[in-house]
Amino acid sequence: MALASMPQDPRLFRITAIWNWDSIVELFFINGPTRALIDTGASYTPREFVEPALRSLGLELTDIDVILNTHGHQDHMGGNHALLNQINAQVYMHREDAFLVADLEAHMEYIWHADKRVLGQDLSARRAQFLHTVTGPSAVHRKLEDNEIVDLGDDIQLRVVHLPGHSPGSIAYHWEEKKIAFAGDAVQGYGSKPGTFPLYYTARGYERSMQKLASLQIETLALAHRYLWTQDARDALRSGKAAEQTVQDSIAVTRMIHQSVREALKAHAGAGFLPVALAATQTLAAALPFTIEPRTGLPTGLPATLYAHYTELTGESGGAAS
Ligand SMILES: [Zn+2]
Repeated sequence: MALASMPQDPRLFRITAIWNWDSIVELFFINGPTRALIDTGASYTPREFVEPALRSLGLELTDIDVILNTHGHQDHMGGNHALLNQINAQVYMHREDAFLVADLEAHMEYIWHADKRVLGQDLSARRAQFLHTVTGPSAVHRKLEDNEIVDLGDDIQLRVVHLPGHSPGSIAYHWEEKKIAFAGDAVQGYGSKPGTFPLYYTARGYERSMQKLASLQIETLALAHRYLWTQDARDALRSGKAAEQTVQDSIAVTRMIHQSVREALKAHAGAGFLPVALAATQTLAAALPFTIEPRTGLPTGLPATLYAHYTELTGESGGAAS
């Protein structure tokens, strides 16, 4: 059966892919004069999910002209390398995330700075998982800047909206005429799935990005994961009030985290990151639905978000700056 188009435009398709066994990542395909795939998932995603979806439309992977990455993380660009081995597409991505796909060692140092360098964790299992989902670096043929237009031909123009925070070069592709923004992971809500925590690497940058998004004319927010927010409905597509509320929830949560880290810093002045992070985690656990990892006492997954607030408040070098 042919993949159904999205209501916003008959040339627009959503490709839902399984990621990391129990999660979902959303990709999008625009069948314009220039055919664009928004994000590539992990190394196996093009073969397992994109190819069957395109074949249902009478197309092949080789019909993809451009890969539009929302950002440089493994579940969004991990398929770039595999795809570029098979097809001749151009890769577009924001300038500030290009280092994440060009150098996988630099990528891992950046995303795991707090885990590895600050908390001294052994990340060998995560490293193996990373290198399974990202089998090689990717070229970036066009480095995008905020506000520029990606022209896919005919009436299809996507405006680049730089939304740093989750990664330095996170962007939304805003199809202004259709009032839909493909925002990847730029908007975190309460986290990407039950038990998780919002993930971003610059605290103030993230809040500013959410304020910027709130000011745009967007009817539909197309997220890459089914982010948690104050409502139960968990589709990755949010329209109207749901889109607005998701952004407002993201702002409320980042402010709450900031406040908790600030108070923890007052109580544990000069004690370093870990005591502050543990105290902030205890305060936040009463208000947010994340789970605590017994081994660390911190929110499950990455402590990067707490570290982002900590470094901003203390002025200590993040070491992961770029
Ligand atoms: Zn991401």
